[in-house]
Amino acid sequence: MRAALATLLLLTTLIVAPQPVPAAVDAQSLGGRFSGSNVVFRVYSAAATRITVSVYAAPTGEQERASFTLTRDAASVWSTTVSAATLQGAGVTGTIYYGYRAWGPNWPFDPAWTKGSAAGFVSDVDSSGNRFNPNKLLIDPYAREISHDPLTPALPDGSRYGTGPTFRTVDTGTTAPKSIVLAADGTSTGGKPARALKDDVVYEVNLRGLTRNDAGIAAADRGTYRGAAQKAASLRALGVTAVEFLPVQETQNDTNDVDPTGTAGDNYWGYMTVNYFAPDRRYAADRSPGGPTRELKSMVKSFHDNGIKVFIDVVYNHTAEGGPWNDADKNTYSVYSWRGLDNPTYYSLTSDRQSPWDNTGVGGNYNTFNPTAQNLIVDSVAYWKDTLGVDGFRFDLASVLGNTCEHGCFSYSRTNPATALNRLAAEMPARPTGGGSGVDWIAEPWAIGSGTYQVGNFPAGWAEWNGIYRDTLRRDQNKLGVAAITPGELATRFAGSSDLYGDDGRRPFNSINFMVAHDGFTLKDLYSCNGKNNNQPWPFGPSDGGSDDNDSWDQGGVAADQRKAARNGLALLMLSGGVPMITGGDEFLRGLNCNNNPYNLDSSANWLNYAWNADQATFNTFAQRLIAFRAAHPALRPANFYTAAQLQWFTPAGVAPDSAYWTNPNNHALAWRLDGTAFGDPAAAVYVAYNGWSGDVTFTLPAPPAGRQWFRVTDTSTWAEGPDQVRPPGAEDPLGGIPYLLHGRALLLLVAR
Ligand code: CA
Repeated sequence: MRAALATLLLLTTLIVAPQPVPAAVDAQSLGGRFSGSNVVFRVYSAAATRITVSVYAAPTGEQERASFTLTRDAASVWSTTVSAATLQGAGVTGTIYYGYRAWGPNWPFDPAWTKGSAAGFVSDVDSSGNRFNPNKLLIDPYAREISHDPLTPALPDGSRYGTGPTFRTVDTGTTAPKSIVLAADGTSTGGKPARALKDDVVYEVNLRGLTRNDAGIAAADRGTYRGAAQKAASLRALGVTAVEFLPVQETQNDTNDVDPTGTAGDNYWGYMTVNYFAPDRRYAADRSPGGPTRELKSMVKSFHDNGIKVFIDVVYNHTAEGGPWNDADKNTYSVYSWRGLDNPTYYSLTSDRQSPWDNTGVGGNYNTFNPTAQNLIVDSVAYWKDTLGVDGFRFDLASVLGNTCEHGCFSYSRTNPATALNRLAAEMPARPTGGGSGVDWIAEPWAIGSGTYQVGNFPAGWAEWNGIYRDTLRRDQNKLGVAAITPGELATRFAGSSDLYGDDGRRPFNSINFMVAHDGFTLKDLYSCNGKNNNQPWPFGPSDGGSDDNDSWDQGGVAADQRKAARNGLALLMLSGGVPMITGGDEFLRGLNCNNNPYNLDSSANWLNYAWNADQATFNTFAQRLIAFRAAHPALRPANFYTAAQLQWFTPAGVAPDSAYWTNPNNHALAWRLDGTAFGDPAAAVYVAYNGWSGDVTFTLPAPPAGRQWFRVTDTSTWAEGPDQVRPPGAEDPLGGIPYLLHGRALLLLVAR
């Protein structure tokens, strides 16, 4: 596979975009690895002139026990082999902690150099973009675990990682994170579910927040992989089929607890990756070397044993090294790993190579089109898939992975086979439409800046967070009389967004439908808040940033209407073609007091709270039963876009809409009928009527199939609110063929049997 890929890359490179291609790198062997009675260290750098590996007996507080100089091969891989006896003789008798130091053209090796000296220094950055600094101990990009985050409660000052005149001679050997040589581990991840993506219900959640506040979990396990594993059964009972964790690759979060009620600099979400292989140590109950890996794998097995897929959110568009400390200062940057090993290989730079090219707003673009940097993406994703047992991946700001330009520009391509997007899907094919083995690839199909908004324009094999679904439904529900949403636009979203995914051969399940995600209001707040309120006291704030464009509305401040709006949003989501995604806690109306950017809140308010009031318990039952309804009715989960025979649309008068009806934004009511027989559905037909208007609307019901009768599964109106608002199978209310009066802003769901 690797050889074939190299050929493919070479061909496409010659045709599409001439660039240097390294000789075949056996990338899987990069890193510090046991090999018989030896340890082999292998690391890539195209421009380094000298690299040493230092080994340590402890993660912090002491100097290295020994250092070894690596030698370079023709593929720019630097390596050395050290025997276990040598390491033991040097005093490294337990866990092998290590890091690299690297010299290059901007800082050549000088025999007079000692740790913390400037000997050999020429410049912080040279005209090629190199930023070598031998005073900074570097994390191995292929480390399987790291000992701690760059900042810890005992060492919270990040200035030591800095370059530039003030910090370039500060040595980080005794304080920087150490890479760990990890022994092979036999922990099982269980059998992967083979379920088709079209049949999934995705539950996006922060791993720590899932259980940190859960009184049903032993205190020592709360907020950990081990705690999350214990939620598999309850998530299965909710009907969730795929749990999607916010980033679990190592991120800077060790310092979140330094000030228990302070938020400055805290990172709860985790979208600043420190290492792409290592599971975050802070999420482990067992934080000893190897503990995070074993514990994460056991957690994956727990979900697999409950039939639930594990997706992880991955952040390959930028890294925790970030951008310049000050835009006007070309010299002062943080150096943890990639930047000090090979800055122009791992990062997209401006044409003069002095600054990052930034489409993320949080640091320079990762250089996704560089073959070596791309290897790191592919290899680490493969490790999470094959060794750690993960079933699918959600890529943050994924347009950056479709970039076809290394330096001085950004140019997205859906078709270029050499992009990271196409390479991932070529090397690790997407799960087949009908299920089986394969990867569920999910993109956040935008970033920041020109050319990055690519909703509907991702390659074959990729599903996308459908931001247009979200925006259309929010505006329809919350912006009546302000935003002009036509019945035609609504129908397109309900039916799986064929305009976005049908034109390029993709399918309804390539649309990940959602009303809210972690990045914005909760479902409750979407219908309870007119705007953000992020600058509030702990534990609901303070947070900075956050969108001002939320399409939210407090429903006039009427609590019953807020709950009704949330029922409508959830019902529309569960009844639409595509794959529904909810965010952890939405099923019980979790609120954040209108904070729409709680990325920094590692707080009791942001952790899921299972002590529900009566309204929350009622909503949870509503959500559970609606999800069960979706699971029971394959007509709602089409593999292909609906045909006219499978899906019929109706106006409230019970007739097919004409073009005038479809295109008039003053029409706010629409109904549709799915033919169950075409899908092997237990219902002969499923009927949905949605009244988005503020007043009552009478719907003339279409005739049920011959010999059948309509039964009401739910009416989301306030009069029906209660634990039995969604009737379980067999307990639905029989209806006559009479017109049905549906109150304002409500949804009616019927089955024919
Ligand atoms: Ca961490």
